[in-house]
Amino acid sequence: VPELPEVEAVCRRLHEWAAGRTIVAARFTRPQTTRPTSPRTFARRLAGRQIDRVHRRAKNVLLALTGDLTLRIHLRMTGNLWVDDPANRPSTARAWFTLDDGREIVFDDPRLLGRMEILDAGRASALDQELGLEPLSDAFTPAWLAERAQRSRKPAKVFLLDQSIVVGLGNIWAAEALFAARVAPAAPANSLKPRQIRHLHAAIQEILARAVKSAYEQYRAPGQTLESEGYGVAVYNREGLPCLRCRTAIARVAQAGRSTYFCPRCQR
Ligand SMILES: [Zn+2]
Repeated sequence: VPELPEVEAVCRRLHEWAAGRTIVAARFTRPQTTRPTSPRTFARRLAGRQIDRVHRRAKNVLLALTGDLTLRIHLRMTGNLWVDDPANRPSTARAWFTLDDGREIVFDDPRLLGRMEILDAGRASALDQELGLEPLSDAFTPAWLAERAQRSRKPAKVFLLDQSIVVGLGNIWAAEALFAARVAPAAPANSLKPRQIRHLHAAIQEILARAVKSAYEQYRAPGQTLESEGYGVAVYNREGLPCLRCRTAIARVAQAGRSTYFCPRCQR
């Protein structure tokens, strides 16, 4: 499942590969990709527009186009995007956008779960407003995190996964950040001490920045698979294995329907 680091890597690579190019045609193999808009209408709105910039908001890939339109692509479970020669298009491609240099942006989506939407300026701004804060943005400060934590009785792990607060911090990175900051995943957010908040904030930014760098380096070649779990995690998926700090066995509990991995000794 692509998480924030993988989506960020896709956006950066797509920007390198396609910014400045013009979409001359768009094709879709399935109507559900663009629903409720028909593929034909969708293609007509895209044709002739230049791609100014490719960037990420939460787990959305956003292509800023001339004429104040934004193409929003959500990769969901298995979706992937890259630029390549049409001859290399895979059979699981659900859409492709022909560029003015003859290459194409391929939207590969074996499980048919990805979705696309064209946003006008108003919709793009509304989407931005309704999403939580970006953890890698300058607005995400220890003071901001402390203020939001103060207002929540949720367990720290559940608080971190709340997309209306901070976006894109998935199950893996939330567990890793709590471990790095030595915060118990079950501790209520409003019980965290200023020092714990500072450590948690620093851990979130460090861990995500490292994961983005790693995902970006892995995603050199068009269509390369995106893997979240190969970055040398310290605690995630390590139930029963020794804690890397204190050798205590890593424990697993369910929180809000998701597995949380933590060290019962270091994180309390
Ligand atoms: Zn430990």
